[in-house]
Amino acid sequence: MRKPIIAGNWKMNGTITEATILVEELKSLLGTEELPCDVVLCPPFTTLATVLDLVDETLIGVGAQNMDYHESGAFTGEVSPAMITEVGAQYVILGHSERREYYGETDAAVNAKIKAAFQYDLTPIVCVGESLEQREANHTKAWIEGQLEGAFKDIPKEEAMETVIAYEPIWAIGTGKTATADQAEEVCRDIRKKMAHLYDVETAEAIRIQYGGSVKGSNAKELLSEPNIDGALVGGASLIAADFKAIIDGTK
Ligand code: PGA
Repeated sequence: MRKPIIAGNWKMNGTITEATILVEELKSLLGTEELPCDVVLCPPFTTLATVLDLVDETLIGVGAQNMDYHESGAFTGEVSPAMITEVGAQYVILGHSERREYYGETDAAVNAKIKAAFQYDLTPIVCVGESLEQREANHTKAWIEGQLEGAFKDIPKEEAMETVIAYEPIWAIGTGKTATADQAEEVCRDIRKKMAHLYDVETAEAIRIQYGGSVKGSNAKELLSEPNIDGALVGGASLIAADFKAIIDGTK
């Protein structure tokens, strides 16, 4: 049985003051009871330490939204895996479509970052997804298979099993246009099949696959009831504590 995982991708949102208010609100909504799933907050680098302090002694995990794969050096503006591990985060989002689109991140870079993440004990949340043009041209499956081949090149089975894959159709991100549960399930099932092909059935069955793209409290339950959707990567709605809580409850 795969444990569901709900991750909040705050993107470039949240000053220290705003982050503090949001996390405190979420903590009081979640209470002290056991969580129905893994919950991860991915704030900007500047609030990682604050958020980690705030969730100390809770079951909430914390992740970064990106990182470089080099150890250290002359890479102005970048943050290394060692820095993210040292601050105390446990996860890192890799290959988000915004990184791919605006910052030219390639499958090869995502691959190098996955390797670096495991070297530093970080669990990668690896994003894949097609554009609207690709979907309309019936290229979704082939495109995502290519992204997976590139991302998982030379990644050993034990690490692949620990990876979280987020299926995020680009046309559904921040648009309010959610994929239907059927559309999301179909691609998540294809992703699992592809991972069985790249590794084996045992590996594919262990991997947690999230759906992301306009997930809200009101549509979470339906998406999360699909057999191959093991969680959600949530952007906009993760900035509203009550909505994020409703998505977490959708895993029950
Ligand atoms: P959204 O973003 O929930 O605002 O659509 C999802 C994401 O980009 O991870």
